[in-house]
Amino acid sequence: LAKEKGRNNYQLYTPTMNEKAFERLEMESSLRRALEQQEFVLFYQPKISIENGQIIGMEALIRWQHPQRGLVPPVEFIPIAEDTGLIVPIGEWVLRTACIQNKEWQKAGYTPIRVAVNISSRQFQLQNLADTISRILAETGLEPNWLELEITESVAMENGEYTIQMLEKLTKMGIQLSIDDFGTGYSSLSYLNRFPINKLKIDKSFITNLSRGNEDAAIASTVIVLGRSLRIGVVAEGVETPEQYNFLKECNCDEMQGYLFSKPVPAKEFERMLKERIYYNP
Ligand code: C2E
Ligand code: MG
Ligand code: MG
Ligand code: MG
Repeated sequence: LAKEKGRNNYQLYTPTMNEKAFERLEMESSLRRALEQQEFVLFYQPKISIENGQIIGMEALIRWQHPQRGLVPPVEFIPIAEDTGLIVPIGEWVLRTACIQNKEWQKAGYTPIRVAVNISSRQFQLQNLADTISRILAETGLEPNWLELEITESVAMENGEYTIQMLEKLTKMGIQLSIDDFGTGYSSLSYLNRFPINKLKIDKSFITNLSRGNEDAAIASTVIVLGRSLRIGVVAEGVETPEQYNFLKECNCDEMQGYLFSKPVPAKEFERMLKERIYYNP
């Protein structure tokens, strides 16, 4: 093979590359089919208020109910959906489904909570994102204040000036905005100060290894102080232990999300938590 490489370009067509390209093509067409056949589902994970332990929000998280493979997590298909552009129609489906669900629960009389939807890079770069969301809110009847968008730190910082413009448009519509996975990208603090955002979500990688006195605890408490001084709320994701909860509470973190309270669950199960007014009592 080494000899062949020197003579021609066959190295571009090694079986592994072929297989990968094929897998990708296959994945693309099954994602397309999944959208048509409505194989995607949203799970919901509660966000807990530090003040009273009550559910004050939920994050909508997509899964793929594959006929053969079972429940496929987003890490296994979102990147391909991004590459192929399929994230645009999939993302619209997520937004619409989350808004319909939230409106339904409000109509059923449960204490209103906010639904957060993850927006991928490709979606965020679309000039008509705000129009699409306006249309979905109008169609579903959900008031904008009950919708939150999560944009990752790296996407927000990629093109700061564009981000400011887009976030300003969205914020004027009355939607809430969060910076997701905060701490994993390279934030420009001057941009952060100019973004009209409501919340910072500390990435779970810092929370997972957090214990009193270690570096991650220092990072988490610093982000909370930063949020305070910029008048931005702070949410911790990936809270799994009472020790992490207690530390974050002492630091005055506003909201928490994690397996300590609940994993992401199907809509039916989430509705049960709303119905029973489940709250966290440490
Ligand atoms: P994310 O937005 O940062 O979501 C948080 C992830 O952390 C979720 O994984 C959630 O299940 C997980 N998590 C929450 N609490 C804990 C905990 O205590 N411990 C641990 N180990 N994990 C916890 P999930 O649902 O697999 O989603 C992964 C990522 O996929 C999301 O990260 C988000 O970037 C992306 N994603 C999910 N749904 C969507 C969607 O509808 N659209 C887009 N564009 N991306 C999505
Ligand atoms: Mg998120
Ligand atoms: Mg996150
Ligand atoms: Mg994350």
